[in-house]
Amino acid sequence: MDHKAGVDTRLVTQLYARERERFETTHPRSRALFARGKETYLYGAPLHWMRRWAGGFPIYVQVAKGSCLTDVDGHEYVDFCLGDTGAMAGHGDPRIADAVHCQMLAGATMMLPTADALWLGDELKRRFGLPYWNLATSASDANRFCIRLSRMATGREKVLVFSGCYHGSVEEAHVELRDGRVALRNNIHANAFDHARLSKVIEFNDPEALARALADGDVACVLAEPVMTNCGMVPPAAGYLDTLRRLTRETGTVLIIDETHTISSGPGGYARIHGIEPDMFVLGKAIAGGIPAAVYGLAKPIAERVWQALPPVDPAVKQSANAGFGGTLAGNAVTVAALRATLEHVLTEDAYERMIPLAGRLAASARRLIDAAGLPWHVTQIGARIEQMFSPTVPRNGSEARDARDGALEGLLHLYFMNRGVLITPFHTMLLLCPASLPEDIARHEEVFSTFLAELRGGAE
Ligand code: PMP
Repeated sequence: MDHKAGVDTRLVTQLYARERERFETTHPRSRALFARGKETYLYGAPLHWMRRWAGGFPIYVQVAKGSCLTDVDGHEYVDFCLGDTGAMAGHGDPRIADAVHCQMLAGATMMLPTADALWLGDELKRRFGLPYWNLATSASDANRFCIRLSRMATGREKVLVFSGCYHGSVEEAHVELRDGRVALRNNIHANAFDHARLSKVIEFNDPEALARALADGDVACVLAEPVMTNCGMVPPAAGYLDTLRRLTRETGTVLIIDETHTISSGPGGYARIHGIEPDMFVLGKAIAGGIPAAVYGLAKPIAERVWQALPPVDPAVKQSANAGFGGTLAGNAVTVAALRATLEHVLTEDAYERMIPLAGRLAASARRLIDAAGLPWHVTQIGARIEQMFSPTVPRNGSEARDARDGALEGLLHLYFMNRGVLITPFHTMLLLCPASLPEDIARHEEVFSTFLAELRGGAE
């Protein structure tokens, strides 16, 4: 018998074929809509990731509310994907909807600030501890802007990232280590960007490699998630983030912490809890309740260096000081209203106090079932976010995480759950909770997971 991740691979193939047939027959409307979508969309749907779901086509959404979603074929789902974190505030929250509706009627975008922006600035400073903020329309943009600012402030060119990372459409970060060298992640097109010259890539949790990479003094910034979340989940080893902070300080390298996913840790993110003190801080996706938005914050010394590097603005000649930062709609009034509503009313301290213990119950239930099935898998929890991986131990870096992946088993698990009313993030096996998540959602997951594991052990459904 051929085994991977403790499971018979032929059984995985057989079960996948059965589940695929079931998915096709029970989702005729979604299937027909996707067939039509292919006539007008480059990838069949408005965003290429929408077709990444297991089953061959995406389900089309009728309505999503709280932690639940109903598709056009009338199936209901518990949503643990939550738009890959974009909907971490929950679906259809009336407080965010009202704020957006009111501001829409009062003017969506004027290239002028509204008074809400002042509340927002104070709140960002209070929550995340950095004094100066700017808005962007996506986390990708915010990361790109932080890299640009780092280069302006340091006069250096290189960007250091960790193998297995993902920070959005950031050219410098489209790299991974292959045979010890910089290579393009997923063999993506280089886009005329000289990665070998401008990117440095090392393994996470390797302090010696980090010291070597920073020693040349040519790195403008390190762009890092405090816990790697896009290759599975890789937590920092004890003391590693302190070393990262110390070495970046010693070498005059800007430390950008991207908390777009690790905001699951708590209202102020992972860095705040663990006292990391980044020079720049990025947060996108969930922060405006689903309205496209990102924020990035700067520590005072780095802000001062940026102000020095920026050309002075002469009001008499109305000279533009955009300095290469785009985003006409960044910080528009509707986005600011949505940001305020989300932070003031939805992703609050109380909400985290409910979400995190519920995620703890989900992780504990998954671990219990995995242990009972005798499978060599593990589960990691970062606040309201859990990741189930098909390896016995927690990976220490992106390469170990990649080795622990099993595409066929992942695909089967996702489809199996989808066929039984549970949505899991399609890229790996991440489950996220929102303030509207319920104990019943955990019970639903437990029920489906136990039948899934029984089937994998050769029992009938
Ligand atoms: N940073 C991190 C850590 C992310 O996971 C992502 C997206 N998965 C991004 C940035 C980019 O977000 P967006 O696609 O919204 O620009």
